[in-house]
Amino acid sequence: MPFLQPEAPGRSGDAPGSIDYRFARRQLLHRYRSGELTRGDVCDAQSELMRIAVNHSRKATSPCPICGQRELRIVRFVFGSKLPAGGRVVENNTHLLKLSEKYGGSSGARTYSVEICLACRWNHLLDIVPMAARSR
Ligand SMILES: [Zn+2]
Repeated sequence: MPFLQPEAPGRSGDAPGSIDYRFARRQLLHRYRSGELTRGDVCDAQSELMRIAVNHSRKATSPCPICGQRELRIVRFVFGSKLPAGGRVVENNTHLLKLSEKYGGSSGARTYSVEICLACRWNHLLDIVPMAARSR
């Protein structure tokens, strides 16, 4: 899944053990705005990801950085050694709590937050947070 492999590395986030990809996102947006990358390069969400974004996401607080529309969504996935290879889509906060009870803590499961625009297919990994650290 390309959206989980940003070209630039992440940095340590606020929560212990978390990785923040906001800097990588800014770099990519800069490359797009400078003309180095085309809209087709950055707005490439696959149909499965779009389907997940339609059904299991929450609205982002900001508009899409590419098209400016308020169609930006946040999708969360959980990956870990005890989970299926493709991870699990977090359907809502209640579901996240259940997943956290089952896989959180010592199992090393981590939550990946991805933003996806329903209008232009822009998508980028935002952060990776150990499951136990997100139980707030
Ligand atoms: Zn957009």
